[in-house]
Amino acid sequence: MTAATPPRRIALLVPDLPDRKALEPYLDRIDASHWYSNFGPLVRELEAGMADLFSASVPARQHVVSVNNATLGLELAILALDLPPGSRVLVPALTFVASAVAVMRAGCVPVFCDVEPDTWLLSPRIAEDALRRVRFDAVMPVSTYGAPQDMKAWDAFHARTNIPVVVDAAGAYGNQGASERCALVYSLHATKSLAAAEGGLVVSADRAYVERVKVLANFGIDLSTVSDATAGSTGLVFHAGTNGKLSEYHAALGLAALARWDDTSARRIAMHERYLALIAQRCPVLTLQARDPRGVYSIFPVLVPRGAKAADAWRELGAQGVETRRWYCPPLTDHPAFARMPFAGEIPVARDLGERLVALPFHLLLADEDLVRVVEAVAGFAGRFR
Ligand SMILES: *Cc1c(COP(=O)(O)O)cnc(C)c1O
Repeated sequence: MTAATPPRRIALLVPDLPDRKALEPYLDRIDASHWYSNFGPLVRELEAGMADLFSASVPARQHVVSVNNATLGLELAILALDLPPGSRVLVPALTFVASAVAVMRAGCVPVFCDVEPDTWLLSPRIAEDALRRVRFDAVMPVSTYGAPQDMKAWDAFHARTNIPVVVDAAGAYGNQGASERCALVYSLHATKSLAAAEGGLVVSADRAYVERVKVLANFGIDLSTVSDATAGSTGLVFHAGTNGKLSEYHAALGLAALARWDDTSARRIAMHERYLALIAQRCPVLTLQARDPRGVYSIFPVLVPRGAKAADAWRELGAQGVETRRWYCPPLTDHPAFARMPFAGEIPVARDLGERLVALPFHLLLADEDLVRVVEAVAGFAGRFR
């Protein structure tokens, strides 16, 4: 008797960065320039290209500074607001831990709030509502699972309240547009739609603000402060910063990823649409995030029906060779590091999502037959709960 071969394992996420061939022209430039970090030509080219791209989505001209990852970018984006130490920042309970980590490392206190039941986002409506109950000095909306925040609505929120807004758009490059009044932080991590292994971008229409972030990412050295007395030195430090610079090698990856963006983003859009069609056909009991069906995503989360548990789906699909992940679960409030932070009210939606949300495999190496197998596996699980 021969043992049946187990089905091929379908991985949740396989990053796919530009290969060595695609990198070659950029590496040649690094070899020739001997410039490896500190505002080199590739970093400047990436920043300028990004500024043009972000400016296309909004009337206000955008400025961009690169950083070595989005978590640090968020920390510096908060520090650059110049809030007093211990200031409070409204953060959704459903997000990657990095959002709250960045707030705390910037010397601020996260105040957790719920998310909208359809988009799963912290919206301006929720922030306005929280404002009636708790004090906070800044807000960090998140483009959760790649779904964009409505920046016109956040600009209006800022105009009404004067409360600064820093958007954690780490996982939303390609979907999340820029704004007139708010800062946005994007990630170039290997797992994101535009990937440079590690990296991040801080984007804002406020040139002086972006300049402050850039100074903070260079230890806090203000290069514009060299006077007669300090001639020959690099400049003075007014606010202690850190080393948040992006290297030329990472900028090379970012530029190569940008060069093939039209192709990779089209493939992500097509895969997302195919998943939606398969789910509508074979597993309509799943609930999906209210988001643009033609968006560019790197995460595909679904909610199993009420009464079912995501942990059981994870186990059952895993046993069939389909790898899933409960992204951003449990809610941040359940992590020991954040458990003593204040709440802006109950978080029933985030709690429900924490129990029922499971993300299906989503990456560019999946074949159509893989998608069919994934949807059939999740249909086999969810179908029992109708
Ligand atoms: C990926 C991600 C981060 C972290 O980005 P890094 O560049 O890896 O630091 C933060 N927040 C959200 C919502 C993310 O998806």
